[in-house]
Amino acid sequence: MKRINHWVGGRVLVGASGREGPVFDPALGRQQAVVDFASAAEVDQAVAVARQAFLSWRQTSLARRSEVLFALRELVSAHRLELASLISAEHGKVPADALGEVARGIENLEFACGIPTLLKGGYSEQASTGVDVHGVRQPLGVVACITPFNFPAMVPMWMFATALACGNTVVLKPSEKTPSACLLFAELMQRAGLPDGCFNVVHGDRIAADRLLAHPDIDAISFVGSTPVARHVYETGTRHDKRVQALGGAKNHMLVLGDADLNAAADAAVSAAFGSAGERCMAISVLLVADSVADGLLERIRSRMADIVVGPASQPGTDMGPLITREHRDAVAAHIAHAVDDGARVLVDGRVGAPTEGWFLRPSLIDNVRPGMRCYDQEIFGPVLCVMRVAGYEEGLAVINANQFGNGAALFTRDGGAARSFGFDVQAGMVGINVPVPVPVAHFSFGGWKASLFGDQHIYGPEGVNFYTRAKVITSRWPGAERAGVDLNFPRNR
Ligand code: NAD
Repeated sequence: MKRINHWVGGRVLVGASGREGPVFDPALGRQQAVVDFASAAEVDQAVAVARQAFLSWRQTSLARRSEVLFALRELVSAHRLELASLISAEHGKVPADALGEVARGIENLEFACGIPTLLKGGYSEQASTGVDVHGVRQPLGVVACITPFNFPAMVPMWMFATALACGNTVVLKPSEKTPSACLLFAELMQRAGLPDGCFNVVHGDRIAADRLLAHPDIDAISFVGSTPVARHVYETGTRHDKRVQALGGAKNHMLVLGDADLNAAADAAVSAAFGSAGERCMAISVLLVADSVADGLLERIRSRMADIVVGPASQPGTDMGPLITREHRDAVAAHIAHAVDDGARVLVDGRVGAPTEGWFLRPSLIDNVRPGMRCYDQEIFGPVLCVMRVAGYEEGLAVINANQFGNGAALFTRDGGAARSFGFDVQAGMVGINVPVPVPVAHFSFGGWKASLFGDQHIYGPEGVNFYTRAKVITSRWPGAERAGVDLNFPRNR
């Protein structure tokens, strides 16, 4: 059986911990590979290599760094089909969806190519008499990146593109369920001219992750995953004096007002709820719809759901693939059962009619959902759309703002005033107006509010540059410019 190894110092490192995990093909429900799980000692080895590489990478000119990033952008683009097929094989998402993920990730490489401009500091000439002041931003050191199963290429690119451009080196621990895409990145980076040791991959589970969180030579941690783990990562990492950004789970609402274009809203709800089998942190999982148009909208959604082709990604014409594991498929199915027990009304039951080989469900639609029901209070992370009927804008907004999560939120309307109020008042980090999945373009930053993000900086974009650098201000006086004389008082500007 295929074995997936670590990548340290520019070459494959065969795991020697004696620990390993299975990698499945979720469309067949069968194991397809074995992945090495790193011990704490193997993590230490990767961090030591990254620390050594940092000493010269931080001195590498911005011109050279951006040259490497331009080359990497070209190589990733040239290998996008190969990346997409690795993603589909381990995650199960359909090829077009996997290619979309790669394309959105490439945007982050393109953003990072502009690093000479992004790191331009400020300068004050004659801030005091004969004294000039300039500010710079410098890299932190070694950054640990810990990523989830559902975006095996895009989320790592959110992190390493900016981290490397800023002059840091990286140790990445991808999800043990989807480990292969990162190894292709490692090879492409080497071909792009990134010095060995700047980018390292260690595979594994909590043992590897926890060693990264506590390692004295790790300076910062970028994490994306579920909320309980994000909280653990944030608390542990900050306790060990590291800079941490930890992005967590979500429950994204789409509010449809009575004046919305119902066909466009139905298309958007179905695409955003069931794309990637609902395993997206920006998936729409709750539809809030004004009573006056609820029946009409739900009818349109049901007819679109009936046309969704569920099956293996390898089968042409498939719209939606399997869930990631048997356990996760069963947990999503249990949410549908709980919804019935809790008094909701299952309009379309995705437990019926799905392919039986592999870990599939068909899309589900559940009406009459209320806060307090398990299907509403918990993140489902599957192809289940919960529906709440509301009187209108005010009630819908109140529901969204009372939710524990605040990743994305969308409003569908033709009313510009309502749209403006929504942008102003909704408690979510990423807001869509007639846009169901408002993942920001790469020159903005991505991040949620409340239990969807622990830390102060959002990921990628300008906040990513801030996160991966620290500020230094240099105040200079040159001999001959002005004699200061001895003065024991606190320095004042004159
Ligand atoms: P997960 O939290 O189970 O795992 C994420 C990473 O953390 C993996 O690399 C995993 O090996 C590691 N990990 C797991 N348990 C750990 C522990 N106890 N200590 C240390 N590390 C641990 O998440 P997942 O199932 O891979 O991904 C799905 C989740 O990620 C969903 O909740 C989804 O909403 C969230 N997500 C959020 C975003 C976002 O941007 N906010 C993006 C994608 C996914």
